[in-house]
Amino acid sequence: MQIINGKSGWIEIICGPMFSGKSEELIKRLRRAQIAKRRVQIFKHGSDARYDATSIVSHSQMSLPGVAISDINELMELVDDRTELVAIDEGQFFSDDILAVTNKLANQGKRIIVAGLDMDYLGNPFGPMPKLMCSAEYVSKQLAICMSCGDPANFTQRLTQATEQVVVGADETYEARCRLHFEPAFESSLQQAKKKTKNKANG
Ligand code: ADP
Repeated sequence: MQIINGKSGWIEIICGPMFSGKSEELIKRLRRAQIAKRRVQIFKHGSDARYDATSIVSHSQMSLPGVAISDINELMELVDDRTELVAIDEGQFFSDDILAVTNKLANQGKRIIVAGLDMDYLGNPFGPMPKLMCSAEYVSKQLAICMSCGDPANFTQRLTQATEQVVVGADETYEARCRLHFEPAFESSLQQAKKKTKNKANG
């Protein structure tokens, strides 16, 4: 990725379905910034405490410590003037206020990276992510591997009957699917998941 030189700040978005490596990519960019001795602050949404209440943790167990917040407006008080890079994980869970906050910080000359799901379990745009992608200088779309066929996967398949937009979970609740195998209607997916478990049990 080409990095802008000079005094201008900018916004980078890392998006895609679950298991697509968003957290790994975020951690990689942050580690490189730390090696370059940039002043970094890391935030994540408080509702995602799957592995650790504050750290950013990938499904492959890479991790970096951060601060959990639930209201994006808290960020303006927590970000130090001298901070050069602000990272936000699970961007989809924040309100649309994240647009004003990230743009304000970028306008101050900071590098902002937001990672998050671009679509929910129905394949609909998730929270503020689409708007953030419009105002960002750089957008990286990650793909996972479809658990049905092994093709590149753009969708997050929910394997339970819950119908709320936000249900925090990992392997037991969600899997990555390609366009062909993504089924927003949960019932047939549920049956497939049950069949898979039964087949596994029968060897
Ligand atoms: P995300 O933040 O997008 O949910 P992570 O960075 O946490 O993704 O995890 C990516 C890692 O998840 C991969 O490197 C791999 O080890 C693991 N993984 C598990 N299931 C899949 C899948 N279906 N496709 C790709 N990676 C997967």
